Parts: sequence; structure tokens; C-alpha cells
Amino acid sequence: MSALPPTDLPPSDRPENAAAEPRRPLIGLSREELAAEIAGLGEPAFRARQLWHWIYHQGARSFDAMTTLSKAFRAKLAERYTLDRPAAARDLASIDGTRKWLLRFADGQEAECVHIPEEERGTLCVSSQVGCTLSCRFCHTGTQRLVRNIEAGEIVGQFMTAKDALGEWPTPTYDRAITNVVMMGMGEPLYNFDNVAKALRIVMDGEGLSLSRRRITLSTAGVVPMIKRCGEELGVNLAVSLHAVSDHIRDVIVPLNKKYPLEELLAACREYPGVNNARRITFEYVMLKGVNDTPADARELARLLRDIPAKVNLIPFNAWPGAPYECSDAATIEAFTEIVAAARLTATVRTPRGRDIMAACGQLKSDSVKLRKSERLAASLAS
Ligand code: SAH
Repeated sequence: MSALPPTDLPPSDRPENAAAEPRRPLIGLSREELAAEIAGLGEPAFRARQLWHWIYHQGARSFDAMTTLSKAFRAKLAERYTLDRPAAARDLASIDGTRKWLLRFADGQEAECVHIPEEERGTLCVSSQVGCTLSCRFCHTGTQRLVRNIEAGEIVGQFMTAKDALGEWPTPTYDRAITNVVMMGMGEPLYNFDNVAKALRIVMDGEGLSLSRRRITLSTAGVVPMIKRCGEELGVNLAVSLHAVSDHIRDVIVPLNKKYPLEELLAACREYPGVNNARRITFEYVMLKGVNDTPADARELARLLRDIPAKVNLIPFNAWPGAPYECSDAATIEAFTEIVAAARLTATVRTPRGRDIMAACGQLKSDSVKLRKSERLAASLAS
């Protein structure tokens, strides 16, 4: 192709036309979509598989690095597509090893992504929306309005950027820095299900990022009508942000409860496809002083979960400036844990991580928005 003068090329292949079309991202295309693109370029099907391997197993950041592809094919790809990931607008490292990135997408919107290394595993916490519609009262992201859903490519992109930063290419079989993914960042994943599902299918693909569905957990505030689909179509672990044992308290702290009250939520959990004693649902419960933390609450929690394969994750409230709540004190959390554990429910208390680099989820983004607003104000005053 490069030997021909441009005028002899079909119009779509003429360099001036190729340059006029914006290059499109490949990250985030499903296998089928990628295959269709490659077929559209007149290349054989196995090329799409090679490309997939370069993108998601090798983590290639340029087409030039894809040495098993012909130079002409690499050039064709580079003319039309990008391998861009979200940029790390901020990159914070804690003394305990936790890393937190504020990621900036192509349109300038931002979301947070966190890597939490532990002895036996490394968890990546991924965002699904810029902002959120749920307005949970204790959640900092809940104070931000929803800006938009995060695209499938941007969800996978969070994973890619984290792997770039952690130097985890090609994806190792053992000793991975990222062994688990939790959809527990900003946003409600079940309100952006199509993008989340598409992204997780890419993450689970055995010839790429290759993370088992058993190592992926999706956390929801309780979007009841979507819970079954999540289990059937993705088969990932489910976490539910319960946080209260009565509707009148949950209505206040997780307002989505007014739409899908406790009874409906727990019924959906009982029927979650694939749930059993070996694969339990995690119930998250944020400890809010004087709100949901009495021994009676703990007993009621155990009662509500008695017929659900469940484990309880007690989360010390991570306070943020202006938050309307405080965290329960240590003795209260301990007493609560003991009651739940005595009911033969697995109860763990989440250890706060990375406290030196971050406060609550969503705060980094808020700070960045404020900073950019004040920069714009300063610039307009100066001009
Ligand atoms: N929308 C989803 C996922 C995002 S939040 C959901 O609600 O599950 C991930 C978890 O962090 C949820 O359990 C949420 O309730 C909890 N969380 C949010 N802000 C918190 C804070 N300031 N302190 C402790 N936990 C918080």
C-alpha cells in the first residue's frame, strides 16, 4: 500500500482522508467488535486475536511495539486507532503501599481508582460513574451530581493505567499486583450496567487481563431489578451496601431504599444466581456513631441475614469535612462485631488504608474540581 501513489488508493485509504478522521480508541471494544474492525480492514481473523493479545496481555502502548504484526498493518492501525488510557492527573502513594490515582478521561472528566496491596492479594477499586445520583448521606461522592456514566473503555482503561503504573505487563500468572477487582469506586455500577458488563467481560477474558469472575466483586446500593442480571450475565461476586437494618434509617442514609426497601433487597439477595455457602454475598455496613451501631442493630442484622449465605464487612466511617456523621468508637465497633460473629456470620472490620494520602472516596475529585474552578477564576481575574 505504501508503494502506491496516494491517488491510486481507494478513497478511504488515502492518507489525507485517514488523517481527517479522528483516530478511535481500541480499548473497550469487545472481541466481536475488534474482529469486525479488523475484518473491515481486509485482514484475516487471526490478526484480531493477535491484536487482542498485544493490547490486553502484553499491554502494548503503541502499535509499533506489536512486533508479530507486519509493518504495513501496524501503520494502518496507527492511522486509524489509539491505545490511549486515562491519564493520571494525580498519583498518590501511601506509606502502607496503597496507591490512589485521579484519572482524567479524554473529555477532561475525572474519576478515582485505588490499588490496595495486601499480603495475599492486591485489590483494584474501580469507578463506574463520574459523580453519582444516589446521594447516600455519609458518602462524599454522594455530594457530587452525576456528570456521566463511565464508558466501557474507560472502565477497562482504569485497569490498564493501574497496570502501567504498577509495571504489570505482560500479565503474570503468579504474584500479580492486581489479583482482585472491586466495583466500589465512584458511582453505582448497576446504573451503568451495560458499560460495566462490557468492561468486565474484557477484564475476565482468559487471553487478556484474565481475571476470574470469582475475583471480581460488584458493589451496589441495592438496585433490585438489576441484581439478577448481574449474577446471570456476569457471575461476579455481589456486595450490597446495607448500612442499616430498618427502612426508616436506611431511607435516610441510603435514599435508594425508598424505591427498593429492605425486604425487596434481601429477597433479591436470597435469589442471587450462583450464591451458596462457598460464594457468599458481602453486606457492607458503615459504622455511624449513634445512627446504626447499637447491640440491637447488630442482633437485627444477624436476624435479617440468617437465611442468606452472607458475610458482613463492617466499615469504620471515613469522615470528610462537613460530613453529617462521625465514626462509631472502637469499643462500639468491637461489640457490634462480636454479636454478628456470635450469630455465626463471618464478620470482618475493614482496616482503614492509605489514610495519609486520602480521605473518603470522591474527595480527591472534588478537590480537583475546586482547584480547577479557582484556577479558572484566577485566570479570568487576571485577564
Ligand atoms: N454505589 C455502590 C458502590 C460505590 S460505594 C454502592 O453503594 O455499593 C462503595 C462502598 O463504600 C459502599 O459500601 C459505600 O456505602 C461505602 N462508602 C461510601 N462512602 C463512605 C465513607 N465515607 N466511609 C465509609 N464507607 C463509605
